[in-house]
Amino acid sequence: MNRTPRDRESREKKKVRAQKIESLLRKEYPSPTIALSHSSPLHLLIAVILSAQCTDVRVNMVTPSLFKKYKTARDLAEADPEELEREIHSTGFFRNKAKNIIGCCKALVENHKGNVPSSMEELVQLPGVGRKTANCILGEAFGIPAGIVVDTHVMRLATRLGLTQNSQPDKIEADLCNLLAKKDWIHFGNAVIHHGRNICGARNPKCADCVLNKLCPSAEYPQK
Ligand code: SF4
Repeated sequence: MNRTPRDRESREKKKVRAQKIESLLRKEYPSPTIALSHSSPLHLLIAVILSAQCTDVRVNMVTPSLFKKYKTARDLAEADPEELEREIHSTGFFRNKAKNIIGCCKALVENHKGNVPSSMEELVQLPGVGRKTANCILGEAFGIPAGIVVDTHVMRLATRLGLTQNSQPDKIEADLCNLLAKKDWIHFGNAVIHHGRNICGARNPKCADCVLNKLCPSAEYPQK
């Protein structure tokens, strides 16, 4: 197998580079917040479940009336499945999402007094909740850096930036956590998501305009 310069970069050098990347992202995105509208950990959890395979803009169109109607976990645990399916229909995969939301809220009522728990172990036990969702809830709703959110943007940028050679989200997350200080985990995930949306898109990365281009082994400079 041919080794690239990226492969040969020592762990220590990669760590220094990752920390420089985080510093530049912090200047560029001082307080990156999640784009999903919410006013409580429960409503954030529901919005994140709805956001699977759906844009945040679309989810934000659906949630105001949904959250007005279903204020508590019990309200959603007792929701009529077909009615809920109709209400979230436009977010796609509505049958599965309705099933997960009702199942998740039943578990919240039965095991957590209707509250969203604040630990990774408890969150990933809930129907429809994986590490990505749990990291998002813990970081955004509780300020707890349990790990790094790895969505499609973080997967793409971590690879392009040469911070991982893995393709599985859990392994990418472990690689990133090993390179960055725990205090930066929440910011890094959120900032990379913003950078992926704004600059480093899947098809047309705008490398010439990217603050990370001097630290990125994938940087290309097309004619402007
Ligand atoms: S330099 Fe290009 S490939 Fe690298 S992070 Fe920036 S936009 Fe993405």
